[in-house]
Amino acid sequence: MVTVKSDEDIKWMRHSGTITAAVLAELAKNAHEGISLNDLDRIAESMIKKMGAVPAFKNYRGYPKTITVSIDEQVVHGIPNKRKLKKGELVSFDMGVYYNGWCSDSALSVIVGDDPNPEDVRLLEATKNSLYKGIEQCVIGNHLGDVSHAVQQYAESKGFSVVRDLVGHGIGRSMHEDPAVPNYGRAGRGLLMKKGMVIAVEPMINAGTHRVLCLEDGWTIVTEDGKKSAHFEHTIAFTERGPRILTLPEGASEEEEYPFPPKEN
Ligand code: MG
Ligand code: MG
Repeated sequence: MVTVKSDEDIKWMRHSGTITAAVLAELAKNAHEGISLNDLDRIAESMIKKMGAVPAFKNYRGYPKTITVSIDEQVVHGIPNKRKLKKGELVSFDMGVYYNGWCSDSALSVIVGDDPNPEDVRLLEATKNSLYKGIEQCVIGNHLGDVSHAVQQYAESKGFSVVRDLVGHGIGRSMHEDPAVPNYGRAGRGLLMKKGMVIAVEPMINAGTHRVLCLEDGWTIVTEDGKKSAHFEHTIAFTERGPRILTLPEGASEEEEYPFPPKEN
């Protein structure tokens, strides 16, 4: 069942989103050579608690940590451990929190060090841009397929492939609600989107094949061909002022929060 959120609900979700955004920014800042994934997880957990929120991933279906950290060929759901980040690694952080019972979910990718491989930068930028192509379509009266199609079209136009086995999702009182939000599909098809719907759009884009495997830990998703993958995600509300990004830091500008306002006339 797809739920519709009130303005009051979305106010709480926005607050939840500021916490997720603050923690992700801190993770990105700390993603330097030599830091362990466990240390990054601890940074996230202590920040979340300090801000009065609850980690959304910890204990979700038995998941043991606060964040997921996925490196290079790992697509998503990498479990933090003693591993230390190395220069040139493409690292995707994914996390979410509950604040006052409302969930927010966001992800970003960074490259460790100041001498990134240009092809990795291209993958990262294309993934981030494909997210914004999807967000642009998060307009009342559009169909869900418009969002999916826009992500796929852009990512594939850059020569990359879209993971099919994992998708975005509705979000609210729970992290994963209806509808499923694939990163591939046909424009004009699927659910008609209404004011107050909130979805997490989260392209997972691969340098090589779109096919993925799950490691024996039961969580870590990797590319089948071992090539790199990037991941960006925002929690988006459908509003009369256009798509609203809820997972931005407190004090984000109007233009950042509503990057695609309705055109006059
Ligand atoms: Mg996420
Ligand atoms: Mg998500």
